[in-house]
Amino acid sequence: MAGLHIRSVLVTGSNRGIGLELIKRFIGKPNPPEVIFATCRDPDGARAQELKNLASKHPNVMILQLEATDPGSIKAAAKKAEAHLGGSGLNLLINNAGVMPPSTLESATSEDMLNVYKINVVGPLLVTQAFLPLLKKAAQGSNQKGMSCSKAAIVNISTVLGSIEKTPESFFFVPVVSYRCSKAALNMLTKCQSMGYKDAGILCTALHPGWVQTELGNFQSNVQADLTVDESVNGLMKVMCNLSEKHHGILVTWEGNTLPW
Ligand code: NDP
Repeated sequence: MAGLHIRSVLVTGSNRGIGLELIKRFIGKPNPPEVIFATCRDPDGARAQELKNLASKHPNVMILQLEATDPGSIKAAAKKAEAHLGGSGLNLLINNAGVMPPSTLESATSEDMLNVYKINVVGPLLVTQAFLPLLKKAAQGSNQKGMSCSKAAIVNISTVLGSIEKTPESFFFVPVVSYRCSKAALNMLTKCQSMGYKDAGILCTALHPGWVQTELGNFQSNVQADLTVDESVNGLMKVMCNLSEKHHGILVTWEGNTLPW
């Protein structure tokens, strides 16, 4: 295992679910990052309390306000991160924040489609644009050969539900049309980023965390998702340890398997 030896990481949507667990895992590493940026859209709200408790105990955790649909909030977060990093770059950006409202072919509205697209696709696009100079700085300042999350990487948390090839196997189980379309677009964004940032040495990969017991995953009150947050994030951390240029511009599961777009 190549290992994750990163100085700095940023996770969006980190006040609950997969994002919060990722923050806990980075904190708990034997060699934790010096700087862990945990973003959430309402740091003063009740839903950020667990994250705030963590940050109060771990000085390497810095909470940044970031609303994925608000370019001003994204730019302000990047400015604060840059100042906090004091001249060094950002190694790993994890675009995790996302929503999955109910949406079928019959019920989908223009508002639903655009709102989900804005959060799940435009958000990661703008966040990456804002943090790109810091990612480039990390890549330039690294003496590591090849691509890795320890050097400089963008990880977009996507889903098999955005895979066009896999849709026939999973459509009727979870129609969520606006979500599927947005994640298919996020997959395309990942591919475009992989082409655009290759020369800069920034690894770009989309990860599918499995079907996970979070608020988003437990969307059907009568059916429980397959994986606990613990199991999923265990897998994601292992996979991120081993990501290299082989995984540049592809979609990978929490178990490390490649999924078709
Ligand atoms: P949760 O619903 O538990 O958490 C979603 C997170 O995204 C929350 O922190 C939420 O913040 C944040 N968020 C939502 N909207 C915005 C916004 N406009 N701006 C900033 N942050 C926002 O979901 P999961 O942890 O399950 O999902 C995390 C990622 O994993 C998502 O991208 C999802 O698509 C993906 N995924 C999840 C699967 C699952 O089974 N759970 C399966 C496949 C992929 P707030 O508390 O403020 O709402």
